[in-house]
Order: sequence, then C-alpha cells, then structure tokens
Amino acid sequence: MKKLFFTPGPSQIYPKLEKFMGKAFKNDIPSISHRSEMFMEIVKDVERELRVLLSIPQTHHIFFLSSSLESMERIIENSVKKTSFHFANSAFAEEFVATARAKKKKTHVYRFLPGERIPVESVVIPSTVELICITQNETSNGSCVPLDDIYTLKKRYPTIPIALDIVSSAPYIATDFNKIDCAFFSVQKGFGLPAGLSILVVNDTMAKKSRKKGYHNFPSLLSKSIKNQTPETPNVLNIYLLGEVVKDMNKKGIEIIRQETDDKAAHIEELGSLFIDNARIRSKTVIVLNAGGKTNEIREKLKEKNIIVGKGYGKYKDAHIRIANFPQHSKEQVRMLVAELKILM
Ligand SMILES: *Cc1c(COP(=O)(O)O)cnc(C)c1O
Repeated sequence: MKKLFFTPGPSQIYPKLEKFMGKAFKNDIPSISHRSEMFMEIVKDVERELRVLLSIPQTHHIFFLSSSLESMERIIENSVKKTSFHFANSAFAEEFVATARAKKKKTHVYRFLPGERIPVESVVIPSTVELICITQNETSNGSCVPLDDIYTLKKRYPTIPIALDIVSSAPYIATDFNKIDCAFFSVQKGFGLPAGLSILVVNDTMAKKSRKKGYHNFPSLLSKSIKNQTPETPNVLNIYLLGEVVKDMNKKGIEIIRQETDDKAAHIEELGSLFIDNARIRSKTVIVLNAGGKTNEIREKLKEKNIIVGKGYGKYKDAHIRIANFPQHSKEQVRMLVAELKILM
C-alpha cells in the first residue's frame, strides 16, 4: 500500500503529479533543449502562473535555482558586501547565518526563543546592515513570523532590503511583494513536487545592483530570465511540473487553498499539545506537537497504518512530532491522521 507523507519536505506529492509526469514524458520534456522555443514557452507559462498564484508584481523577477540553500547563498553573495542581519530562533534561520559567515560576511544575529515574538517596534538594526534575513516559517519548530511584524520592520527601515525564507509556507503565505525585496521557496514542500528546484523572487533593484562574478550572479540570471531561459541546463522536468501544479492551483484559486489550509490547521490544533502556544506566531503549514517523549512510538504506530509524520528537529528529535499541512494534503487525509493521533497521544 502506498504511504501518506505528512513530513515537512519532501512530503506527499501533489495528487495529479503522476498524470502531469505522464504528460511530460509524452511531450518529450526530459529531452528538450533548454534553448528551445518549447522550453521558453514552459518558462513563460510557469512565470505567468506563479505571478497569479503569489501576486508577484512586474517589479520582481523570478529565478530558478537548484535548492533553497543555494538561494540563501546566492542572496548573500549577490546582495551583501560586508554586513547582514538575521532573525533566528532555530535551525533554518541558523543555516542562513552560517551561509553568510561562510562567505566571510559580518553577521548581526537577533536570537529569540521559539515561543517569543520579535519586538519589531523596538529592535535596532545598525545602519551598516545591507540585508535583513528572516525565516518567515521555521520548519524545524513550527513557529512563524507574522507578515504584519515584517511590514512594521520594513516601515522602520525602508531602505534596507529584506530577504524572506518562505520555503515551507508558500503558497499559503500571502506575501506583499511591494514590501518584500526578495523571497524564496523550494518545490518539495507546499507544491508537492520532487526536490531539486528553488524559486527565487528578487526585485529589479536587487537583481541589477549585484557585482558578483561567476555562477548564478543576479545580472546573468536576469539577462537569461528576460529571454525565458536560465544560464545553465536547469531541472527542465521539474520546472514543467511546477507549471502544471501551479496552473492547477490557480484553477482552484489561492483563496480557497488558504481557507482550506486554515481549516485543516484548526483541526490538527484541536489535538492540543502544541509546541507553540501563541496562535499569532504559530505556523499553519508546519504544526509541531509535544509528544512527551513518545515520538518514536507514535511514529512507529502511524507507520503501521502507512502514515508518515516528521520527527522533532535537533534536540527535540524524540520530543516533537512535526506535521506538514500543505495544499496537497486533503481534508480527508488530515481527518484520518488526527483520528489516529487522538488514539496515540
Ligand atoms: C527545507 C527548508 C530549507 C532548505 O530547502 P532545500 O530545498 O533543502 O535547500 C530552507 N529553509 C526552510 C525554512 C526549509 O523548510
């Protein structure tokens, strides 16, 4: 029997993915040249659909990279000469910090606890900072930074660009790109696709300002993007599949997807034992439960029913259960999971 994956990436695949995959092979997608008319049409389609789904304005460009860790590194290399600022409460935000340090940048890090809210009204960002990095949805602990708080920060520091990690909250999160300079996500989370593709959204100023040389410098990505191409031979198959998935999501409508995500999250939250108490800073797309040391036992019992959930991250490995609540998870599937967990927790 096939398994049902509630792991926060890679996760359950998009329900129609097999059908899209069949269509891709029928149309020779894995063999076509990335300089062909056909590929350029695919890129044009994906871009158009993504702009509709996520309200990405024409002021922002869409680049295709290989992973979100690559997106972090390219953002740092292309937009920070000396100093970056990071908000961090766990693993993925720390990854952004580590990336900047590996590139010899001076990093200011505001660390806060998973249940805490960032005091955006008073936090001080030094004038030397060239980029503010925020992990909007922290996949490792189920906390999130509310968009309103990020916009408040932008209002206080309008001239410093913000780079937003929305890897595990896209497409649910309704980012206002008039206030966000740059954001990125991977397709193996909320798009239900195989891993190996990250979408980086960058505003025109940031894209053109870069002085980086070599692979995936923003100006080279931009000059190809204008022609609906990429500098390298990209993951053509996954780009095509993303186009099909996003088209399908647009047919349903992002508002419905968001409402369904809220409804499913509310159902999971009824279980109680939530690691993040405060609903304002609790993620709707990755929900983390305190399993009271029973993580392994619960995961094993669920596995017998072909349901796979995530274990805790780092020091919470044996204490947490992480549940992805992505668009590809149906209401019925979530209901089934919750019913099982009610017995086990
Ligand atoms: C998964 C994840 C990443 C890393 O994505 P990759 O595609 O594996 O590079 C980065 N940030 C967050 C918040 C994530 O959940």
